[in-house]
Amino acid sequence: SLSVYKFGNKKADGGKELKNLLGGKGANLAEMSRIGIPVPPGFTITTEVCTQYTQEGQKTVIERIEPEVRQAIEEIEATMGAVFGDDENPLLLSVRSGARVSMPGMMDTVLNLGLNEEAVKGLIQKTGNERFVWDSYRRFIQMYSGVVLGLKPENKEDLDPFEEIIEHLKEKRNITLDTDFTVQDLKDLVFDFKEVVRKRTGKAFPSDPWDQLWGAVIAVFNSWNGDRALYYRKMHGYPEDWGTAVNVQAMVFGNMGQDSATGVCFTRDAGTGENKFNGEYLINAQGEDVVAGVRTPLQITKLGSQRWAELAQVSEEERLEQFPSLEEVMPELYKELFEYQRALENHYRDMQDMEFTIQQGKLWILQTRNGKRTGAAMVKIAMDLLREGLLDEKTALNRIDPIKLDELLHPVFDPQALKKAHVIAQGLPASPGAATGQIVFFADEAAKFKNSILVRIETSPEDLEGMNIARGIVTARGGMTSHAAVVARGMGKCCVSGAGALKINYKTRTLKVGDHEYQEGDWISINGSTGNILEGKVATREPELSGEFAELMELSDKFALMDVRTNADNPRDARIARSFGARGIGLTRTEHMFFEVDRIKAMREMILADTVKGRKTALNKLLPMQREDFEGIFEAMEGFPVTIRLLDPPLHEFVPHELATQRDMAEDLHISLEAVKAKVAELSEFNPMMGHRGCRLGNTYPEITEMQARAIIEAALNVKKEKGIESMPEIMVPLVGTVKEFLLQKEIIQNTAEETFKRYKDRIPYTIGTMMEIPRATLLADQIAEHADFFSFGTNDLTQMTFGYSRDDAGKFLQVYLEKGILKHDPFEVLDREGVGQLVRMGTERGRQNKPKLKVGICGEHGGEPSSVAFCHEVGMNYVSCSPYRVPIARVAAAQAAI
Ligand code: PEP
Ligand code: MG
Repeated sequence: SLSVYKFGNKKADGGKELKNLLGGKGANLAEMSRIGIPVPPGFTITTEVCTQYTQEGQKTVIERIEPEVRQAIEEIEATMGAVFGDDENPLLLSVRSGARVSMPGMMDTVLNLGLNEEAVKGLIQKTGNERFVWDSYRRFIQMYSGVVLGLKPENKEDLDPFEEIIEHLKEKRNITLDTDFTVQDLKDLVFDFKEVVRKRTGKAFPSDPWDQLWGAVIAVFNSWNGDRALYYRKMHGYPEDWGTAVNVQAMVFGNMGQDSATGVCFTRDAGTGENKFNGEYLINAQGEDVVAGVRTPLQITKLGSQRWAELAQVSEEERLEQFPSLEEVMPELYKELFEYQRALENHYRDMQDMEFTIQQGKLWILQTRNGKRTGAAMVKIAMDLLREGLLDEKTALNRIDPIKLDELLHPVFDPQALKKAHVIAQGLPASPGAATGQIVFFADEAAKFKNSILVRIETSPEDLEGMNIARGIVTARGGMTSHAAVVARGMGKCCVSGAGALKINYKTRTLKVGDHEYQEGDWISINGSTGNILEGKVATREPELSGEFAELMELSDKFALMDVRTNADNPRDARIARSFGARGIGLTRTEHMFFEVDRIKAMREMILADTVKGRKTALNKLLPMQREDFEGIFEAMEGFPVTIRLLDPPLHEFVPHELATQRDMAEDLHISLEAVKAKVAELSEFNPMMGHRGCRLGNTYPEITEMQARAIIEAALNVKKEKGIESMPEIMVPLVGTVKEFLLQKEIIQNTAEETFKRYKDRIPYTIGTMMEIPRATLLADQIAEHADFFSFGTNDLTQMTFGYSRDDAGKFLQVYLEKGILKHDPFEVLDREGVGQLVRMGTERGRQNKPKLKVGICGEHGGEPSSVAFCHEVGMNYVSCSPYRVPIARVAAAQAAI
């Protein structure tokens, strides 16, 4: 088989189906050439040669492939009318690596290969452009020495040795831009660069073009086994024998005069998704100049240019003179470019991002790839391509990265403002969105400013109200399922958690990062989609949901086999989730209702009571409040099923831990401060997450279960009577580990329900089920299923207890574990299929052994994470449940899993 695949001249030995052999870049170059797009001619040395090189060494491999390489270069020479290694009419080449997936740490690019002192003279003769040639030469030496000869800074604090020389010369010449160098300066640079090479390598810079070429090819192969590439491969599980291809291609120059140009273009708008060809170009320039912003690039289309002129308030005359479009300057070439971009988009059936160069009136396409785009553009383009008939429904759905839908649902930072903002610190992107406000350090002071950002070491349920008031939340500790993160996502509130660099001092009300200090009241902005914490105010804008978004949702529901429900604790969240298409509630955490001012009092009274009678008195005060909440939720859910979970957290979360609030509590309840302190001490546990919580509460204080069951059943009966809504309550017992503890709770619920039905002289249907969140429960799932109507996997606790990682403390070491590759993902974010997943699968299977129709769902945070949703589909769950703002993500993920 071939070692070298040629492309160019509208032909190619390979094509896009040979990605494994030619790498992504090589396969695309071949494909373009094959469909008649003019790419600079070249060839790809296959990934197999890379593997042979690793096994057999340099000499054998070069000997073997040399005849093919020479022949391929002859073809390039014929097409380009120049000769590789010739002094008078030199052909210059670019050399790039290209594995089947793009990989950081691989050798990047060497341009202008083939230059030496003689070729420089010849090229000056040929082009008449001395500056261009010397500049190309010094760039070549610099690039080649860096990537091929491995000339790096000696100490990590040092500048790149070549940059150091450049800086030095600029200082001496008192200039700031590379473009200000004279021809003599460039010649001096070349001389100095070569000296550095001689000193550092002990050899002269290679002047023979063939030596240069083999050097570059071998460097690409070596980079496949470089430290960074190895690390990256290990992390992603890419095998060593994939190897990398090497792409060698004729150089084309956009800087050979007024009939030359270079640019970047997109087949559609990458920001909005509009079907408008657009891009930028520069006359007489090289690719880098467009990106580097040395000169202001011009618009490719006339329409783009006019739009731009309008914004910049430039008159039509000025526009035509100084900022004309390519469409106006080179109409024929523009037409050609326009046709290629259409052809490429139709061919790849996706929005393309292309690079092109015009060399002396001839258009070359250098690269095409599927263009990066915003979430909004992603949705619009996929739905447009579907409508245009370029994609079928399933392919259009698969074009959606569900996570990116987040961008559409929360307020967003203005991208321009974001570019200018200063990043203070980086945390975890716990809850997406954009928020700007003044720093407060205490939840009960969240209302101190109109817009506040609550900055805490960590949050607790006591902070709930303040979190709700604040625009956004930052914590120094805690991971993706820390209290702050879970609550914030539920609220759709922007949150950055686990920003370890923040040194928060509650006493001085300051926040330190490095030696920078921020005070209460200082403005900061947080980006919950990236985890960035930014200085000052950064402008935001509201998202708008498009018609295409609605189309996408409809399409998803057509294919998805699982329902998507929401986790919601109040009518407001329930309504938001309904508007996003949630078909029920998978988890209402009832404890969140107890934290409002009036309720916490009654709750504390209940906790403080030493007798059943005392507790019942306090519970009677809570009953009407809970009932009212449930009524609101049932109403909002319009008859869709609502899973309500009985009280779950350890009671100590409901009592105050600071002296001032303890005093308030003593006063409220007319007892001594000592009594309060004693109770707080009594409730304190070494390991509360494994302590007195979940159904252990309901089994030690059955009257709590009784009150909650009554509130649920009464609420459903009331809503039926008053609004005519037939609710579907599903009462859920948390943290079950033994059959008996579930049975005891079930009995209380059933008795309470029957008693209530009798009083109301009416009935409603309801079910009783359990959380699956303790490993033991999944082992005994068959026994539990005999008595339970449904299972809901609480994968937050299940992950915590399977790994033995505290969900509130794991942030401390998870970061290191991820960096070292001990874990691939944060298991609290992406369901660990290998371990926790086994328990989920087994629990489901064993449960259904005894009850084939058992309803199974998930309500841990994983219910809104696409790959975990796919796993839930595989296991055969009936539904997933997630925070309201994740409902659209889960709907698309569920559809993708099913197709
Ligand atoms: C869980 O453990 O996954 C769960 C949903 O319950 P919580 O997060 O309230 O413990
Ligand atoms: Mg739990």
